[in-house]
Amino acid sequence: MSAGRGPLDLSDLPVVDGHVHPLLPDPWAVSPERFLDVFTEGRPETMAAHVRHTGYFSRAMRELGQWLGTPPTVEAILERRLAVGPGLVRRVVAEARIAALLVDTGYPPVGMPLADVGQLLSCAVHEVFRVETCAETLLARALDYEEFLGAFNEALRKAARRCVAFKSIIAYRTGLAIRPWPPAEARAAYTGALARRAAGGSPRLSDKALLDTLFFAALEAATETGRPLQIHAGWGDPDIDLPAANPVLLRPVVEDPRWGATQLVLLHQAYPYVREAAFMSAVWPQVHVDLSLAIPFLGPGALGPLIDLLSLAPATKLMYGSDVHSLPELIALSARWGRAALAEALEWLIARGGTTREEARETGRRILADNARALYRLEAGPA
Ligand SMILES: [Zn+2]
Repeated sequence: MSAGRGPLDLSDLPVVDGHVHPLLPDPWAVSPERFLDVFTEGRPETMAAHVRHTGYFSRAMRELGQWLGTPPTVEAILERRLAVGPGLVRRVVAEARIAALLVDTGYPPVGMPLADVGQLLSCAVHEVFRVETCAETLLARALDYEEFLGAFNEALRKAARRCVAFKSIIAYRTGLAIRPWPPAEARAAYTGALARRAAGGSPRLSDKALLDTLFFAALEAATETGRPLQIHAGWGDPDIDLPAANPVLLRPVVEDPRWGATQLVLLHQAYPYVREAAFMSAVWPQVHVDLSLAIPFLGPGALGPLIDLLSLAPATKLMYGSDVHSLPELIALSARWGRAALAEALEWLIARGGTTREEARETGRRILADNARALYRLEAGPA
């Protein structure tokens, strides 16, 4: 840090949160069980005895308590936020300078309508369209396979008129080692999925031949419509088979000239494969890295992964995100922590001659908002 100039301050820079999920339809009346679950990726209510002892929860409680003027207990905070309602959230989101949100509407299935979110938080709200959810919804029509593929392709192109990006969670289902399949095998997988659904089973798609085939169709739609594809990579909830979510498995896709101009965003820093993500963004022009989930979950511990990313990835390739859902104030909390961790990582580099103070501020501006605005072609938000 250069003498007399104080620490790098990014608090005046606007934020585009490039990956969030829907808010609860009524985010004010929240049960203590539901509230605790927001702070874990574990299955509902299974981590209740431990969530209170995580850094994410403890830090969030202290800051929420300060904002609300209450002791940092679940009971006091829930009671106070119910009494205060949207007023406090409007204030903290404005203070966090949230200019825009990109919302993956695929999960949870029922949330506050996006127009209401924009009104509540006074920021731009853009839709991200989840491709597997689209395919699962189409199962209800029991089309034959060719018609199903046609309807899927049409639905993606129709969605592209309003969404700013597509998203795939194939990492959760059958992993990122995606490959072409003979059409007969994809058709057989589809027929199996239809039969399971007709027998009262879940519409959840789980056959690799079909999911890989749909992923290629999504790549084609993304290429044709110029929409980036966000790809879940790395950690998440216990459904994830972590080694299958390593983004380096995407090499055949990123090396294929057909998709060379298709912009791919590796979500969640692909944590713990953050160095793999940094490498990929450093050698393939179309690969970008979203910072969500690691921010806010790691809190001050996000410093290490951010130093790894900033040390290798081009500053044009990293984009802030939170992966927050359900409670609107967490969007503001995550943005505060993300800015602070980013500033600290940049300070670390400045102190060692890795970057200059001027460059660092420019890098901060890019990562917090400008890269996302350019990649997703968002309209310029409030500066
Ligand atoms: Zn997400």
